[in-house]
Amino acid sequence: MKLYLGFILTFLLLASCKDLGSSEKDLAEEVTIKKPKIIKQFGFNLDEFNVLQDTVRNGDSFGELMLRNNVEYPKIHKISEEFRDTFDVRKIVVGKPYLILKSKDTLEKVQVFIYQNDLINYTVIDLRDSVTAYNKRNKIKYVQREASGVITSSLSEAILEQGIDYNITNNLSQIYAWTIDFFRLQKGDKFKVIYREKYINDSIYAGAEPIEAAYFEHNGKTIYSFGYESDTINKVKEYYDEEAKNLRRAFLKAPVEFSRISSRYNLNRRIAYYGYKVRPHKGTDYAAPIGTPILATANGTVEESTRRGGNGKYVKIKHNSTYSTQYLHMKNQNVRKGQYVQQGDVIGWIGMTGNTGGPHVCYRFWKNGRQVDPLREELPKAEPLSDALKPDYFAFISPLKEQLDCIEFMELSEEELLTEND
Ligand SMILES: [Zn+2]
Repeated sequence: MKLYLGFILTFLLLASCKDLGSSEKDLAEEVTIKKPKIIKQFGFNLDEFNVLQDTVRNGDSFGELMLRNNVEYPKIHKISEEFRDTFDVRKIVVGKPYLILKSKDTLEKVQVFIYQNDLINYTVIDLRDSVTAYNKRNKIKYVQREASGVITSSLSEAILEQGIDYNITNNLSQIYAWTIDFFRLQKGDKFKVIYREKYINDSIYAGAEPIEAAYFEHNGKTIYSFGYESDTINKVKEYYDEEAKNLRRAFLKAPVEFSRISSRYNLNRRIAYYGYKVRPHKGTDYAAPIGTPILATANGTVEESTRRGGNGKYVKIKHNSTYSTQYLHMKNQNVRKGQYVQQGDVIGWIGMTGNTGGPHVCYRFWKNGRQVDPLREELPKAEPLSDALKPDYFAFISPLKEQLDCIEFMELSEEELLTEND
């Protein structure tokens, strides 16, 4: 069988959208154009030195590195004592890269030591004449990118095939985790993203930034999302749709990641063991191996954490005056009664305590004191955007939405599809 073309990336733009796209293109070109220039790194012309480039190894200390390169002990002592605020020699970390710049003569005297704290920050110890030390940052540049795709296999495959950063897949599935079931993506589902890539010193790729805006078409339903800093004090970025509705829900879709539903909520369930009598199942069973973490599906206070009869070891969380959730058959609980938990916290582990035929968690969803099927409930949305912020939000997303709308999907024609599948 012929493999499907995972997805098609396109930077093509509609004629009416040209203006928007061209500025993006200019930005992108700046990065790829390689101008001939002297190798200047960390503020030094490396051609002027004998360069020793290595990473800190197990057992290395700053003193040893210097002694090994014939730096006199008093100088080393001076550095470790006098520049502690700039460079604490005891804090050098195994695996971090460093450079030693030596004189190009036969003496090969150590002139400069450069320690790379991370991709951006570095420390320079200048040993020429009187010793000086300072911290500097590499220049960072952001380049905005657009991508779109039609899914025929999986989202991650689709994105990776195009060489787009892996984080974008992750990010996209996080943004839509409450609205789209990524295990049930359909052939023909489409997406568009606008994101930024980070470059150090114009050329070194340093990863993708969180998605700025996205569009997802799933099962014919379209969902826009725009990252917006709704809490400028805590720098919290949330994703909202074009009507400023939060894409996050107050509840996670499931209490276990990567599980499968082994039994749904069913009031008319009949079981052979009980002579095919109706034994309603008021929970949703998620099967997963013993020991798999069980997550609180929403913030709340632990109402019960105990062991009782057929329920086995279980936890019940009260979220507000309307909703509570309960998690049965745990191997062990990880929370105590009265404890406050947050969405996603591990509250226990999958087990087989109580009345159960196999390892799973029976997830029970209580609404106003009655057990309901959460998969059929229109679950409450997370914290909405405050009315005060809305004008700013709409002004912020307007150009982004226009930009998204201008990204085209390049779809194969029927003929091309036929030849593809030959
Ligand atoms: Zn159950």
